[in-house]
Amino acid sequence: MSSGDRGRRSPDSEPAGCEPTGADRPRPPVSRRRLFAWSASSAAGIILLTAFDPARANEESRAGQRAVDSVTRPAGSRSGGAVRGPAGEAPSATIGTAAVPAPAAPAAPAAPAYRIHEVRPDAPASAIALTIDDGPHPVWTPRILEVLRANQVAATFSVVGAQAAANPGLVRRIVAEGHTLCNHTMTHPQPFSRRTPDQIRVEMTHAQSAIVDAGVEPPRLFRAPGGDWSPAVLAAASGLGMTSLGWDVDPRDWARPGTESIRQSLGGARPGDILLCHDGGGNRAQTVAALQQVLPALRARGLSFVPL
Ligand SMILES: [Zn+2]
Repeated sequence: MSSGDRGRRSPDSEPAGCEPTGADRPRPPVSRRRLFAWSASSAAGIILLTAFDPARANEESRAGQRAVDSVTRPAGSRSGGAVRGPAGEAPSATIGTAAVPAPAAPAAPAAPAYRIHEVRPDAPASAIALTIDDGPHPVWTPRILEVLRANQVAATFSVVGAQAAANPGLVRRIVAEGHTLCNHTMTHPQPFSRRTPDQIRVEMTHAQSAIVDAGVEPPRLFRAPGGDWSPAVLAAASGLGMTSLGWDVDPRDWARPGTESIRQSLGGARPGDILLCHDGGGNRAQTVAALQQVLPALRARGLSFVPL
């Protein structure tokens, strides 16, 4: 079974939004030094991207091949994990209303990374990656962190900037416990690809600032809400020095299909797959219960969880 048979191109693969929460009050403003460092590295990245790494280009070419069926979808279709619009199209504001000049952007990939080794070439062949989106949430994130700790699993949390601002202690705890972070926009707007290039970039930069303000390093990964990719979204992430991150296995846990359904979907994962779960956007008790069952089972199959 190819990865395309699974969840990454299923429609409406993410909830319409996140539940904002008010717990875990933000700390007083912290030093902006990390943000400056991130901004400087992003600027350097824009320059350096003109000298393109051939190995990376090859990876992106392969990723583009896998995205062929996605990019030919009708422009108006809802498609989680798919790229909307023609591949390689220059970033512009043609979707929507008046033409707004898009800033000059470096060459961007034609699709997000759908496989672990596109992001972590150093990962073992047995690698599998768990991504957890839409938090941090004051109830569900700690419960998921406990399950991960009990199973010695390191994951990647795609955090929403507004949630990070409301729960900065959880952002720090996620990192302190060995997990990594991915930028998942400031407000999780959908359909994301329909935003103007300026709105897309602001969603990314505000989330990055909120995460840095929580007291951790800025993420180098970006995931579009609902997996709603477009050339403009991919270019904006690339321009900010972030790698766009897709997924392979989507149990649609946000829709609460039942613990057994989530467990079965995740249990079908294969080496190299990126799994999608959620710690925000609603009651995640089924997700917690499914992870409690499936993480030991996947590890028993010899799969090694790696943070991205
Ligand atoms: Zn999301």
